[in-house]
Amino acid sequence: MSLLINAIESIQVGIEDYLTNDSKRYLSAVRNIFAGVLLLYKEKLSQLSPSHDKGLLIKKDIKPSYDNEGNLIFVSKGRRTVDVQEIKEHFSSLNIKVDWKKFDELNQLRNDIEHYYTDKSPDAIREIVAKSFIIVRDFIGEHLKEQPRLLLGDKCWQALLETADVYAVEEEACIKSLEQIDWKYQTLKNALRDIRCPSCHSSLVKGEDQDGDEYSISTPLICISCGKEFDFGDVVEQCLSDSLAAETYRAMKHGGEALIGTCPGCCQDTYMVAEVQCAVCDYQLEYLECDMCGTSLSLDEQSLDGFCSYCQHQCERIMDE
Ligand SMILES: [Zn+2]
Ligand SMILES: [Zn+2]
Ligand SMILES: [Zn+2]
Repeated sequence: MSLLINAIESIQVGIEDYLTNDSKRYLSAVRNIFAGVLLLYKEKLSQLSPSHDKGLLIKKDIKPSYDNEGNLIFVSKGRRTVDVQEIKEHFSSLNIKVDWKKFDELNQLRNDIEHYYTDKSPDAIREIVAKSFIIVRDFIGEHLKEQPRLLLGDKCWQALLETADVYAVEEEACIKSLEQIDWKYQTLKNALRDIRCPSCHSSLVKGEDQDGDEYSISTPLICISCGKEFDFGDVVEQCLSDSLAAETYRAMKHGGEALIGTCPGCCQDTYMVAEVQCAVCDYQLEYLECDMCGTSLSLDEQSLDGFCSYCQHQCERIMDE
């Protein structure tokens, strides 16, 4: 039971830090809330551990041993406990379904806040509190089979609930205003979910003019957290990369193609492979098919004067001979 108590206390202390409205305590709020989430996960692993060793699934190291009847069992050893990756693997083996996309986003925000944090970004903290709330509420209810409001106490629960509600309303308004702009390409429409203020890193970004204009790099945007005004061109690389980096990594690991590339026209990482088009300068592929064998050419092969890398290689061999 002590893990669960620690988890709840950590979240409560985090919310107290947050409610002080003292920016010096915001970082501590983020760390406490995040630590609380991890402790909730460990509580579940402890509950699932065998009765002879309730710490078995939480410890990094285990060793084989015998029980009183001489049966082979595993017991934990040492003090090191599982990290995020190991928790994910255990949960997946044990069929505990967690929305890891939400958790990873929270983890990323926590990382960013350690690096980007300024006194001007209380809203980024608010976003973390709002997003933690969903994770904490769902996990306590679904996997620990407890009532989150009772566990967390009224004060903490109300603060979480209100923060999440206010945030959701603002987020909705931002999404609506961005949808007024014609983003033309599906890849860009998807990437808008990852748009962030270049100054305070908040995701509460609004479109400034809302007359159904087609987007461009000078489409004006405004951060409603810190008030910074900027152009879409200032965030397009970040936005595409955040939106497609994980998918690109997965695709390439399985021998597939990257989903974004460096544009030969403007040298930014804004070439959208699915759209065969750069989001910034409208660059399109110069050579579509290999002059020699007719195979379709990728972005990387554009520098080969109209040949695919295979034919180019063959030509070089013939010339060398
Ligand atoms: Zn901002
Ligand atoms: Zn370009
Ligand atoms: Zn060829």
